[in-house]
Amino acid sequence: HPSADDRRSFVIVGGGQTGAVAAIALRDEGFAGRIILVGEEPHLPYERPPLSKDVLIQPERAKVTIHDAGVYADRAIETRLGRRAAAIDRGARILTLDDGEAIAYDRLLIATGARPRPYPLLDALGAGVFTMRTLGDAEALRAAIGPGKRLLVVGGGVIGLEVAASATVLGASVTVIERGDRLMARAAPQPLADVLMALHRARGVTFAFGAALARAEREAGGGFVLTCEDGRSFEGDVIVYGIGVALNTELAAAAGLAVDNGIVTDEYGRTSDPAIFAAGDVAHQWRPVLGRHVRQETWQNARVQGAAVAAAMVRDVPCADELPWYWTDQYESNFQVAGSPEAADWIRRGDDAAARYTLFGVTDGRIVGAVTVDNGREMRPAKDLIASGRVIADLDALRDPKQDLRKLAAALR
Ligand code: FAD
Ligand code: NDP
Repeated sequence: HPSADDRRSFVIVGGGQTGAVAAIALRDEGFAGRIILVGEEPHLPYERPPLSKDVLIQPERAKVTIHDAGVYADRAIETRLGRRAAAIDRGARILTLDDGEAIAYDRLLIATGARPRPYPLLDALGAGVFTMRTLGDAEALRAAIGPGKRLLVVGGGVIGLEVAASATVLGASVTVIERGDRLMARAAPQPLADVLMALHRARGVTFAFGAALARAEREAGGGFVLTCEDGRSFEGDVIVYGIGVALNTELAAAAGLAVDNGIVTDEYGRTSDPAIFAAGDVAHQWRPVLGRHVRQETWQNARVQGAAVAAAMVRDVPCADELPWYWTDQYESNFQVAGSPEAADWIRRGDDAAARYTLFGVTDGRIVGAVTVDNGREMRPAKDLIASGRVIADLDALRDPKQDLRKLAAALR
């Protein structure tokens, strides 16, 4: 709890998942000064994963808010919601908000996240073109899709596929237009991309690959026509695009902090100014074990790094190494990915007909990545196998689903 003796102020910019987790963690770590959380969105901090899933399909069941207002009030965490941080004066240690309020800080955490990378060609079409990042985006899209609507999804990444699945469930007919030659190239191994494409095709989704857009037009009747450089064209009533993110680094860059694929930090989450920290999607954090910087765009990273950097702000402890992990839900299926998507080989645990199985990515005899398909119960031992870093002598035992994976993992500890 706060104490009148502690006159320090720790300020957090960004009221997303990372900022919310960090605010609570600062108090849990015993910080007794002022905590101020500044967020541009008008809502209490919420989680984004349901936006492209339940918020579209079954909004009455979707729960997005992370904590009720009382949780912040109980911990004396002050919030400034609907307010944007406009500038940092590093010399004076003052953060200025868009309405002119000046907040003095002793330590500052930047957790400003990312926004959809804009696609000016499509934005120029106006109404009927959607991105997917905020609660407002999801609610607007939900109002626009339904049975019989023709949805054009531009970008075959994770947003594109989750929206394609949800829109299909809602009765829309969906075409995914991807410039590259495969799905989810950034974060999913090829075998998972293949599984996802087969799943979508079985539900009636159409794919176009190598499809670089050249023209985007609105027809007289209100529909859209997208035309590729090679002449292919697609008609639709609604467009959603997800072509990656633009990082919200402007505030940090204007203050002269080092920015390179995100705000550059050390293993404590400290930026090039020791009074300023960064975490979450926006942070490019040094990993001593890997010997390089890592930036992740995942729910787990927001949670783990938000708490770890808060701890570092309070008691100067480095962040622990964290195995990358994320999930995606599409239709009735759950897919989880841990470790690296770039293994030399992928082996399948479970026979070819099994509906639930695990894929292991193997490089030089070591398990470097894992994918579970409706088989989340194997994710923990799979992570242990990756973390062990040991050469697996008996890959056949791994392929056999009758062998207990937990025992195989325990034997390697
Ligand atoms: P953000 O969520 O981007 O939050 C940053 C906040 O800071 C925003 O509210 C922004 O408005 C605010 N802000 C920015 N600049 C300022 C400023 N100058 N002043 C004040 N406030 C500012 N991950 C998974 O692992 N699994 C999933 O299934 C999954 N699904 C997802 C579905 C969707 C639709 C999206 C968009 C993301 C999904 N993710 C998923 C990724 C995950 O949600 C993100 O990694 C996570 O939201 C990152 O949190 P963050 O707080 O770092 O950044
Ligand atoms: P991704 O980076 O996952 O995918 C972007 C896709 O768009 C890639 O397939 C890319 O392929 C393609 N692309 C890029 N530029 C173009 C272009 N000009 N024309 C056509 N295609 C293009 O980003 P998303 O937008 O899907 O997701 C944004 C954020 O939301 C990410 O941080 C993601 O982690 C998060 N998110 C996470 C979810 C999850 O983890 N389950 C769910 C939903 C969102 P290429 O470059 O090869 O052309």
